[in-house]
Amino acid sequence: MIENSLCMRLRRPNAPLELEARKVDPPSGAQVLLRVHACAVCRTDLHVVDGELPNIPVPIVPGHEVVGEVVEAGPESRWAVGTRVGVPWLASTCGKCDYCRSGHENLCDQARFTGYQVDGGYAEHMLADSRYCFALPHELDDVHAAPLLCAGLIGYRSLRMARDPKRLGIYGFGAAAHIVAQVARWQGREFFAFTRKGDNAAQKLALDLGAVWAGDSESPPPAELDAAIIFAPVGSLVPAALRAVRKGGIVVCGGIHMSDIPQFPYSYLWGERTLCSVANLTRRDAEEFLAIAPQAVRETRVQTFPLKEANVALDRLREGKIVGAAVLVNRE
Ligand SMILES: [Zn+2]
Ligand SMILES: [Zn+2]
Repeated sequence: MIENSLCMRLRRPNAPLELEARKVDPPSGAQVLLRVHACAVCRTDLHVVDGELPNIPVPIVPGHEVVGEVVEAGPESRWAVGTRVGVPWLASTCGKCDYCRSGHENLCDQARFTGYQVDGGYAEHMLADSRYCFALPHELDDVHAAPLLCAGLIGYRSLRMARDPKRLGIYGFGAAAHIVAQVARWQGREFFAFTRKGDNAAQKLALDLGAVWAGDSESPPPAELDAAIIFAPVGSLVPAALRAVRKGGIVVCGGIHMSDIPQFPYSYLWGERTLCSVANLTRRDAEEFLAIAPQAVRETRVQTFPLKEANVALDRLREGKIVGAAVLVNRE
């Protein structure tokens, strides 16, 4: 048990997080108690803090891209004291339902999510179920490993859903996009980056990472796309992306929340185009992605903030002022 462990906690939606000291219980069963080294800030955290997700059980500590060290292990823990692990969004599943038994644990109705229904990593310490934590490649330091745990994972799952495109469009060039773009390049794909109008920093980052083209999201790309992934939570990008993909192409929505999709003519979908969403992750996604990450993801761009400045990091993300990923760090 840890007394007086600091965390940044949400007391009610649409209010700033509050710095609080709390007691963290000893781990039981398969749990581990982690000392958090770094926790990346995801757009989903904004959806939690801004009350855009349903039934937020306040008070709650956000954060689901956590790198920490096991300081105490429950009797059934998968990881020993001293191990560095990553904690993702998927905190637990039932393991028994049809989804869980057919390789779709990401869709389990009983699934619980870190930093939404279970206290997360905006903290000095946290508890996690070791069966849903992952060993991290030693090549990656804490700060650069953290964004892989959601931005990287969801990006990877989205890319897999995109059905092996030669030309890939990426809408919204933030944390997830800048990682998935590197994976796409490493796999030999071309990518086209779409950003908010006039977001020169994001467009430059895309070009630095090898984009064939970078431009405003309303602009048509210079070539027809085989697939597009939408990371920005903006429903009007759906018809825009459908118009940018070729017949038989696919548009994958990678976010958990999006503004309403405007009405559009059926002709945008016609020609066997597909529109789908990506929900959460499976542990298999994480294992596959973390195995290739040291080779495929060479330069995660991060901007670090002390834990106590979590509200500043969230505000910057909300304003579109983070290039790459924001990461909260705990100093010793
Ligand atoms: Zn289940
Ligand atoms: Zn996330």
